Amino acid sequence: MATKKLKRIVIKVGTAVLNENNTIAKERMMNLVTLIANLKKTYDVILVTSGAVAAGYSALKLDKSKQIGRKALAAAGQPILMSSYKSMFAIYEMDTAQILLTEDDFDSRKRTVMFQEIIDTHLEYDIVPIINENDITSTPEQTFGDNDQLSANVAYATCADLLVILSDIDGYYDKNPRDFKDAKIIKEMTEIPKEALADDSTANNAFATGGIVTKLKAADFLMKRGHQMFLCNGFDLTAAEDYLFKGEHNLGTLFKPKK
Ligand code: ADP
Repeated sequence: MATKKLKRIVIKVGTAVLNENNTIAKERMMNLVTLIANLKKTYDVILVTSGAVAAGYSALKLDKSKQIGRKALAAAGQPILMSSYKSMFAIYEMDTAQILLTEDDFDSRKRTVMFQEIIDTHLEYDIVPIINENDITSTPEQTFGDNDQLSANVAYATCADLLVILSDIDGYYDKNPRDFKDAKIIKEMTEIPKEALADDSTANNAFATGGIVTKLKAADFLMKRGHQMFLCNGFDLTAAEDYLFKGEHNLGTLFKPKK
């Protein structure tokens, strides 16, 4: 029997959304899981999640500013993060799978094809693939260092129609909204100015590694390859729901390449 081909989306959720007072923000995670469960009716969904370092901090208090501390926290936190997802998806009778990738996995055609096939298999069997960067034993040269660029590479490699980045802001602003009250949200961008990619605005959260620049780099990577990215709020999922369920673009920034 021929099955209807679903649209494929990658959802990336950042530390800012998933971390609260050094533990997993359970309520927000549950809202995300509910969103994905509802999306599954119309879309194939791949989840890229941060939050392992913050989850690890609930088990052991190490210095996250030191490389080994961060790695040890990530190693302790990854199973905590995954078991939270597992029990929440179980409420919707959905199974999950863990895929840990590094930048290296995208260098070799053979390895890229391998994880593409693994993800295709999971989606075929209605399992939610949950991806994170495997930075535990890898060197800085082998890792992206942030999940924004990892998720863009995943979206491209898996031929996703859209990457949705859920962060702690409503979209991309003409200047940092935390510093400037008059910052204005940009609804649609068709290219990223070079200066914006070089800006080193820092992440908003002590555990975060991204910041806005890594999101712009992710958008730039995808747009140059003819793909789209939607950046919106992960605390309040209304903008994501409006866009994905109703096709209404109310809040959030759509990065869409020129035709
Ligand atoms: P996440 O953990 O979701 O990846 P980050 O903290 O890394 O989130 O990045 C989002 C933060 O980037 C925002 O909270 C905001 O403080 C900061 N930021 C800096 N410049 C801008 C801008 N022009 N538009 C939106 N956010 C910006």
